[in-house]
Amino acid sequence: MDIKNIKKVDPQVAQQIELEFERQQNTIELIASENITSLAVMEASGSVLTNKYAEGKPYKRFYNGCEHVDIIEEIAQERAKSLFGVDHANVQPHSGAQANMAVFLYALKPGDKVLGMDLSNGGHLTHGSPVNFSGLYFDVASYGVNEYGEIDYDDVRAKALSHKPKLIVCGASNYSKIIDFKRFKEIADEVGALLMADIAHIAGLVAAGVHPSPAPYADFVTTTTHKSLRGPRGGITMCKAEHAAGVDKAVFPGIQGGPLEHIIAAKAIALHEAAQPEFKTYAAQVIKNAQALAQGLMDEGMDIVGGMTQNHLMTLDLRKFGKTGKDMANVLEQVGITANKNTVPNDPQSPFVTSGVRLGTPAVTTRGFKEDDMVEVAKIIAGAVFASDNEQGLKNLRERALKLCKRYPIYVD
Ligand SMILES: *Cc1c(COP(=O)(O)O)cnc(C)c1O
Repeated sequence: MDIKNIKKVDPQVAQQIELEFERQQNTIELIASENITSLAVMEASGSVLTNKYAEGKPYKRFYNGCEHVDIIEEIAQERAKSLFGVDHANVQPHSGAQANMAVFLYALKPGDKVLGMDLSNGGHLTHGSPVNFSGLYFDVASYGVNEYGEIDYDDVRAKALSHKPKLIVCGASNYSKIIDFKRFKEIADEVGALLMADIAHIAGLVAAGVHPSPAPYADFVTTTTHKSLRGPRGGITMCKAEHAAGVDKAVFPGIQGGPLEHIIAAKAIALHEAAQPEFKTYAAQVIKNAQALAQGLMDEGMDIVGGMTQNHLMTLDLRKFGKTGKDMANVLEQVGITANKNTVPNDPQSPFVTSGVRLGTPAVTTRGFKEDDMVEVAKIIAGAVFASDNEQGLKNLRERALKLCKRYPIYVD
């Protein structure tokens, strides 16, 4: 990747970008929310579109000179609508958090009741965490997962009946089972609530048809574009036609100023890529790889929350080894595997320590890893759990991880 101008202007930053590229090249990325974009997506992100102010909607802007960004944004909207099968798409949200915030601003008044998934059970901060706007300004009730790592829909229904929320939020950041959007819709209808499905993590799987879509059921479908969907960092808020005008007003002027048209162009390209047959193959492989990793880890004697995964991620439960997620994520980094600590259901440790590590396969699948490679990754992870204080053992594991990385280089034209 050519950064010759950055090198000239700012060697200090250039050096760190080069080192970051090497880090990505030489480590196995298992952070479930990360991916490796195409060069086309990256080119758009660094294009002249970054110079343009375009407050407002396509063809109804507050600034002149928008004839090209109008077309680009309209293309992105149309592609999002067709890929996800929704009535309306606003592609301006700067991130997944903004995509959700727009729905809350449109659908709720401060103090209104919301039912969302608890953060420590796999939900997202923006689903009602007390430290987030969603928990600070709204009256939140939460549901979680049972001991098998599954949503208990009867419990969701009971909470909906007693709390009478105006909005029910489904979708998660750490959940390894198929989400039953139809069931959520039935519950929402029974209590007269609106339904928001946040598919930030599984958007690529939904787009490829390897996870059921919430589009027929949810009033709002929100997503990030940079996780399994493999686009630039950003968000999209989609909805049924009746909510379109309100959602657009909530995004701008409600919570944002000028849209990032360079990122919107990159979103358009990623949405085009996601509509190709190769993307379906990739998404199916993401799940095959996750299942091969989970099986490999279980064969090595490791516990996975809820057992076999049905999507792109899983949580390794370290309790029986007396290890913490925090320590294990650091040991994994030493052997060249990047992952994040995560709570397990009923975690005895604090959210800063945790007893689990979340593992996901979108990024390694983009690199080209297949099932056999995931079995080797499982062995490296198990080796790191057992040899966490054996320096030579960790060095050998680092070599094995590096060998896999060399076999699947990133950003080769
Ligand atoms: C990642 C995520 C978000 C937030 O996305 P950001 O781009 O980090 O703001 C929202 N919801 C869910 C379920 C997520 O996993």
